[in-house]
Amino acid sequence: MPRYTVKEIYYTLQGEGAHTGRAAIFLRFAGCNLWTGREEDRHKAICKFCDTDFIGTDGIRGGKYDAHEIATHILDIWPADSDTHPYIVCTGGEPLLQLDEALIDVLHEKNIEIAIETNGTQRVPKGIDWICMSPKANTEVVVQKGDEIKIVYPQTGIDPDDFSNWEFKHFFIQPMDGPSLASNIKICIDYCSQHPRWKLSVQTHKLLNIP
Ligand code: SF4
Repeated sequence: MPRYTVKEIYYTLQGEGAHTGRAAIFLRFAGCNLWTGREEDRHKAICKFCDTDFIGTDGIRGGKYDAHEIATHILDIWPADSDTHPYIVCTGGEPLLQLDEALIDVLHEKNIEIAIETNGTQRVPKGIDWICMSPKANTEVVVQKGDEIKIVYPQTGIDPDDFSNWEFKHFFIQPMDGPSLASNIKICIDYCSQHPRWKLSVQTHKLLNIP
């Protein structure tokens, strides 16, 4: 049975996109194909604006686990008296470098609902319950359908118009964080006002200080 390299597993509220505010367990896989995660490599990264630490296994409940061990962690964390099944968001890094049908099957056997947040460069295995794809400039995006597309904006080399006919249920524009956040918010508001297909996604977990 394969083992998966997991940075952290923690309980929170989803901060952005269509499921904003929903209780979720974040399962963060280590590693990404668009950056090593090391600051000294940022200048040569394909994706240069990342603010996530996805290196190694040193986060909350991080480690190298098989599928059953991951399921056990999730069932341990989810409120025991809940009347809803566990909901997890597989993220990274790039979760699709590791998440496979073997793990999906084990999680589904435990009645765990599975969402992913992917950069769209990897094939999606069968069985994912919610696909959120966030394209990055200068990549070949192979995930052209799913549940939500979320474009971090403005992003040099990405024009949302190029994605507006893809097969997604929700189309989100999300202001790029960083020193230009205030002007980026204004740019995104203007974009959504002029292109009603696109909705504004705000990183509420940062505003509200939700870990
Ligand atoms: S694709 Fe996602 S995880 Fe990878 S470097 Fe970019 S923002 Fe970070």
